[in-house]
Amino acid sequence: AYFVIHCIINSLFFITPGSSRPWLNTSFSSFPNETIDTKLCIDTNCIKKASSDYGNMIQDLPFGVLYPSSVSDIIHLVESSYNSSSSFTIAARGNGHSVRGQAMAKDGVVVNMGSMSVDVNRSIIVSGNSSLGFYADVGGEQLWIDVLRTTLEHGLAPVSWTDYLYLTVGGTLSNAGISGQSSFHGPQISNVLEMDVITGKGEFITCSKNTNSDLFYAVLGGLGQFGIITRARIVLDKAPNRVKWVRIIYEDFSKFTKDQEHLISIDGFNYVEGSLIMKNSSTDFFSPADESMINSLASENGILYSLEAVKYYDDYVINTIDEELQMILKELSFKPGFIFKKDASFFDFLNRVRDEELLLQPLGLWDVPHPWLNLFVPKSRIMDFNEGVFVEIIQKQNRSTSGPFLVYPINRKKWDDNMSVVIPEDDDDMFYTVALLNSATGAKDWATIDEQNTKILEFCDKSGIKVKQYFPHYGKREEWMKHFGKKWGVFKERKAQFDPKMILSPGQRIFNSR
Ligand code: FAD
Repeated sequence: AYFVIHCIINSLFFITPGSSRPWLNTSFSSFPNETIDTKLCIDTNCIKKASSDYGNMIQDLPFGVLYPSSVSDIIHLVESSYNSSSSFTIAARGNGHSVRGQAMAKDGVVVNMGSMSVDVNRSIIVSGNSSLGFYADVGGEQLWIDVLRTTLEHGLAPVSWTDYLYLTVGGTLSNAGISGQSSFHGPQISNVLEMDVITGKGEFITCSKNTNSDLFYAVLGGLGQFGIITRARIVLDKAPNRVKWVRIIYEDFSKFTKDQEHLISIDGFNYVEGSLIMKNSSTDFFSPADESMINSLASENGILYSLEAVKYYDDYVINTIDEELQMILKELSFKPGFIFKKDASFFDFLNRVRDEELLLQPLGLWDVPHPWLNLFVPKSRIMDFNEGVFVEIIQKQNRSTSGPFLVYPINRKKWDDNMSVVIPEDDDDMFYTVALLNSATGAKDWATIDEQNTKILEFCDKSGIKVKQYFPHYGKREEWMKHFGKKWGVFKERKAQFDPKMILSPGQRIFNSR
């Protein structure tokens, strides 16, 4: 395979063998020689960077890495592969924050989307008005943190977020993009008005719900299988200045979930999530004194549940906001005395995970293996899931947790079934997201966590809990078919329509699985 791809790219781009700068020197007239000369890198440093990701568990070496400075660079690359009799695979790499090699292209070409930001014409453009609504046109390569910074300059912000903002627009739209706002506004994929996409045939297509809608729905949650997103038009709303941020503790899972479900059904908070607290859990949300009180309760109980909620506010309600908050909180059944509050700027709240990253980076604890397991669990089985997984498998294994374990319900009504994303196939109004975000301390620990993940999936299978993986990862075609369920037929048809040579995002291992 390596030899074939080398020959194709060599003939297309005239790579000089053995050159210390073996870059493209193209025959395409649209590529000015002086710039193309720096775009396809096949040296060891480029290959190394593109063959790892945040998960730190998979290494797939590509043939080369394209550093595009314009949309046409990507179009030419995809066309080159599509028009060749032995095409090569291509993966867009957002910020490489996948955990299982999803943005890699073994022996193919990785497109380093971040290099598009050298094009000064690709700035984030905010438009609209208060009667028709506001939106931002942003490059697929943009990080959400930059989208936030730019839109805030206009007093606006996207409405739906992920917990961490150093992810790209193209990367999260290829999955779903979820957080505590998803119940109120839908996932990020439900807040896109229009996109520019380069399909697996090298066609550049603008799509929306009304124009080229098949491509629009295919790409959103489409795991990079149908096209490379080069622009997305994102819904914006007026941004608040500040937030009231609370965490309340429960000993009883049933009361915890009942309150979460209540809070996502009323117009009160703007963000609702939740997490497990095991003994020796640590988060910088609590003061040291509060943390020790919580940990001692966790030691007695083995496991606690922490509901996290946020209410946005502006200066003009500063005198009434605490009262409003109190009205909502008094309806809830948390453990008396176990309520903890913070007041933060809207920006600091949204960018909260960055603070953790900056703490972990210098300790060498950020770039470790991340055997994550993310699941969507049917609401009707969440009590069984708690008993079988949180209590029996996780708590009783007595392993100290090494990363947050999130659990919160999401309203189903704002998810569009036409989109490629997969959620539980029942009729409940909600489903739960469970994110077991483990960090491993080394190979042995990683193997232990992987075993635990397998046990969890086997338990769900045996108990008939029809979970769906978020950021799905499977090795076999039948597993993918089961994952997509009733959507598999459409998914396959769309692949044949938009990427018939199966060029795009091979790292997902859907059409090239065993
Ligand atoms: P990559 O990992 O680079 O790419 C992901 C996939 O998308 C690949 O298949 C790639 O080929 C494809 N792709 C990338 N760019 C494009 C493009 N422009 N067009 C088409 N396909 C493209 N997710 C949530 O939903 N909610 C969270 O709260 C959340 N928190 C996270 C916190 C951390 C610390 C981390 C590391 C990840 C988190 N994620 C979360 C997961 C994140 O959404 C995924 O990792 C996602 O893949 C985005 O990462 P990325 O932009 O680096 O994309």
